Amino acid sequence: MSGIYIHIPFCKQACHYCDFHFSTSLTLKSNLVQAILTEIDLRLPYLKNKNIETIYFGGGTPSLLSEKELFLILEKIYKTYNVSSHAEITLEANPDDLSIEKLKELKRLEINRLSIGLQSYNDEELIWMNRAHTAAESESSVKRSQDKGFENISIDLIYGSKFSNLANWKRTLDKTIALDVKHISSYNLTIEDKTKLGHDFKVKKELAIDDEKSSELFLEMIDRLEKNKFIHYEISNFGKESYFSNHNSNYWKGIEYIGFGPSAHSFDGVSRQWNISNNSLYIKNVNDKNESYFEKEILSESDQFNEYILTSLRTIWGIDAEVLKNKFSSEITNAFNQKINAYISKEMITLTNNQYVLTSNGKLFADKIASELFV
Ligand code: SF4
Repeated sequence: MSGIYIHIPFCKQACHYCDFHFSTSLTLKSNLVQAILTEIDLRLPYLKNKNIETIYFGGGTPSLLSEKELFLILEKIYKTYNVSSHAEITLEANPDDLSIEKLKELKRLEINRLSIGLQSYNDEELIWMNRAHTAAESESSVKRSQDKGFENISIDLIYGSKFSNLANWKRTLDKTIALDVKHISSYNLTIEDKTKLGHDFKVKKELAIDDEKSSELFLEMIDRLEKNKFIHYEISNFGKESYFSNHNSNYWKGIEYIGFGPSAHSFDGVSRQWNISNNSLYIKNVNDKNESYFEKEILSESDQFNEYILTSLRTIWGIDAEVLKNKFSSEITNAFNQKINAYISKEMITLTNNQYVLTSNGKLFADKIASELFV
């Protein structure tokens, strides 16, 4: 069981908080699609003979690709790999791209899961973020997608900006629940250095994020969504039963995946590989057999342990004591055992059926706890 990720590094405009790899110039789009097709051939041995259960178009904005471009990539994947007949095929889309015609195209391509970047229902906040859509488009895009037969829909929300407060966050959550989507990914806004927001923060045009307010919004979100049958299965992700993201769940469970396109990462259990984050260099180097377009790192035992702790602790499944025992040396597991009891005493982690899982209080400090458990 493995997954394929395809990074589409183009966006209509740069959101002010975003530090993903993308370009707002679409001039290289068709060359880049051709380079992805070439990369799929070049990487054939990586997941050879594995069954592909998930395909994920991320970005950037994959909904900017034409039907033909998406078709070419999918056709190549289907010809190259054993893709399961019930594979989850996700495409990230922005609301402004989801016209009726676009949705018909995506249906024809047998995309069966949409991840729509709504982010907010507040027009003032959307403008501040430099999103390319309005609040009305956010809502109507979901309804249009449902009308066109997409029932497995995830939406992205951002909380914690200067526009967020408890009252309007409750309204945002209620509106989202009423939309009847099956999955919600919700991220606390962070200020990244190389973004417009990061710049504005540095020159004191914007204030730091209020952590206390963010924690309050986070806990409200868990409470409200859980009361409405969403399962909080990863720190930033909620799904109705049977609607968790299989692609991301496999990633958090340490299952191997291959990533195509600039900046895409791949993981085979013992090594990590990442493609260069530059569209023209990626195209040039993929087409030039003498140039490398990726870097690779063999993960040491402690790297693998840290990676396992970081990803598993954030999930509903938690850290599995059996995995620790079977996969890692006694030196590493002894160090873990010495540290973990302090978090159990502080009621930040529980141990049930051999699984170490974060409590509600622990969820507020997930990354900090994980880094303290690192070796
Ligand atoms: S948030 Fe999404 S749409 Fe906005 S710049 Fe980043 S990748 Fe592009």
